[in-house]
Amino acid sequence: MQFETAFTMDTSSIKYGPGATREVGHDMRQLGARRVMVVTDPRLAHSEPVEITLASLREQGIDAVLFDQVRVEPTDLSFKEAIRFATEGRFDGFVAVGGGSSIDTMKAANLYSTYPADFLAYVNPPIGEGRPVPGPLKPMIAIPTTAGTGSETTGVAIFDLTEMHAKTGIRHRALRPHLGILDPENTRTMPRMVAACSGLDVLSHALESFTALPYHRRPAPERPELRPAYQGANPISDIWAAQAIRMVSAHIVRAVEDPNDDEARSQMILAAAMAGVGFGNAGVHLPHGMSYPVSGMVRDYVADGYPSDHPLVPHGMSVILNAPAVFRWTASADPARHLQAAELMGVDVRGAAPEDAGTILADAIIRIMQRLGIPNGLGAIGYTPADVDALVAGTLPQRAVVGLSPRPVSPDDLRAIFLDAMRYW
Ligand SMILES: [Zn+2]
Repeated sequence: MQFETAFTMDTSSIKYGPGATREVGHDMRQLGARRVMVVTDPRLAHSEPVEITLASLREQGIDAVLFDQVRVEPTDLSFKEAIRFATEGRFDGFVAVGGGSSIDTMKAANLYSTYPADFLAYVNPPIGEGRPVPGPLKPMIAIPTTAGTGSETTGVAIFDLTEMHAKTGIRHRALRPHLGILDPENTRTMPRMVAACSGLDVLSHALESFTALPYHRRPAPERPELRPAYQGANPISDIWAAQAIRMVSAHIVRAVEDPNDDEARSQMILAAAMAGVGFGNAGVHLPHGMSYPVSGMVRDYVADGYPSDHPLVPHGMSVILNAPAVFRWTASADPARHLQAAELMGVDVRGAAPEDAGTILADAIIRIMQRLGIPNGLGAIGYTPADVDALVAGTLPQRAVVGLSPRPVSPDDLRAIFLDAMRYW
């Protein structure tokens, strides 16, 4: 087998600043659009960020049409509803205002209305065909209202395939928004648990891309266009990941506990985008790969501050619940790097033994989980050891991310990691 010898570094343009949402009309005009679909969820439909966005677009003479039917933790069915709206509306530009669910729904609406195809055509294999996006998409601007997914900087759209109860996604460089507007005013009203879960998602993005399999240990693609968006850790993604780990660890508790802490909130929205630049190129690994069945197989769990009309494990929660168990297991692949990650989180690692690297990093994560009121392991959101085989079966198809584990992982390994994630304290 030939190993990879190249990596690429792509990202969206970013505009940052309190109040920067007011410039979206100007930005969309620069991108040349005249009729724009504004994508959001029902809870944000009448919120300030959405109203400012619509007003700014209309001031610039742009025909702005609101679509407010995004489902939080979207499904193929909710994507299809947005795609239908986009196809019938004949838009030449898209704006998403909201969390990752709204931004991902915008990407799908743009893709399938621009290059119509069978729904599974562009979906990641083995569930879909993984067909590459045929060309550039119409202009897209993402305005996050959570400091979390980093979806404003990535070419990834995640959804739940209803009939299989499996999370999967579409991953391609062309799905990256042309511009992300990071406006800390838009994250002031996040409910406490939303701030905690989205912030822990950022932390895990950064820790996972920092510890992912290095790009030069991945098999080389047969042709350059087959090089995956998630390429493995590389020297440039490391910089973004390391800085994001530092910023989140220093500010997440303040940002969650005091929504009026402007500095902490600003640092979190910047860290989310920085982690997105890192993992959008390097990828994530097991905490995310294992999170998809954890959220897909939910029975009756509902989290504070999230919609209560359907059972839901927030994405960031489903990720962070696996993270300590994963890092205890992956640390032996590269103890120095796991210790460095703990150090970036503020842990004094002087004199630490390499064999303790996993425990040290896991403990640092667990301390933040406890402080923020995250449930104590998968057991606390309704899973038991009897679910482990199904959770493993739901993880294995997430090949692109499972393959970036720094240690090759077998079904038995996954079983052991899930059992370790049942309870932490
Ligand atoms: Zn995530």
